[in-house]
Amino acid sequence: MRDAWLDLLLGSSCGVCGLPGRVLCDLCESRLPRAARVAWPTPAPAGLALPVAAGEYAGGLRELVNAHKEHRQFSLARPLGTMLATSVRTILDGLGEGEGGPFLLVPVPSRGPVVRARGHDPMLRVSRQAAGVLRRWGHPVLVARLLRSAGVARDQSGLRAQERSANLAGSMRCATRARRRARAPDTRLVIADDVLTTGATAREAQRALEDRGLHVVGIATVAATVKQLPAPRSPQH
Ligand SMILES: [Zn+2]
Repeated sequence: MRDAWLDLLLGSSCGVCGLPGRVLCDLCESRLPRAARVAWPTPAPAGLALPVAAGEYAGGLRELVNAHKEHRQFSLARPLGTMLATSVRTILDGLGEGEGGPFLLVPVPSRGPVVRARGHDPMLRVSRQAAGVLRRWGHPVLVARLLRSAGVARDQSGLRAQERSANLAGSMRCATRARRRARAPDTRLVIADDVLTTGATAREAQRALEDRGLHVVGIATVAATVKQLPAPRSPQH
């Protein structure tokens, strides 16, 4: 009931600035990032595939991600998908000769109860939008729901990087039936997630796929958190 009211209320205003009208006003849309960048978390989990983010998880972009994920502003999947597509393209453009694909975009699964409670799968929707954009850009990418939640992980909020990794170990698995299409020897996989924080979730997704012998070439995300690092110590005199 609360969500229905939020839909009604938020549906008539910009999800970023609150301006009445469309769910994303022209000004906020024009301020969205247009170029993706490599975004290594510090520290990065060992063996993490190349992580790329379209922008920083802050300000308007954070509002946008959450308006779609938490408040079901489904039409925001389009701008989010375009940003995810720029991240995927950055990964694909960086691949060497002989890494020609086919390419599969593999969304990180939202945990079962979360998806059921929210009644939608945010990353799947955004990934489908991104794949459509990538096809228009001349990159034939398909969405493959290869990952399943094994349902053992607790909520991640408030956990430190190491605790996150421990909490997530074994929390995802590769779907038995779905993985057959991914197994062709030249198929390349790009993992898709909305927010990159410590990289622990992406690393667990990568592990689940690589354990099945699948080839992951990168982690494409909409936004990455920028760590508040302690000031570097001055060099020894
Ligand atoms: Zn706005």
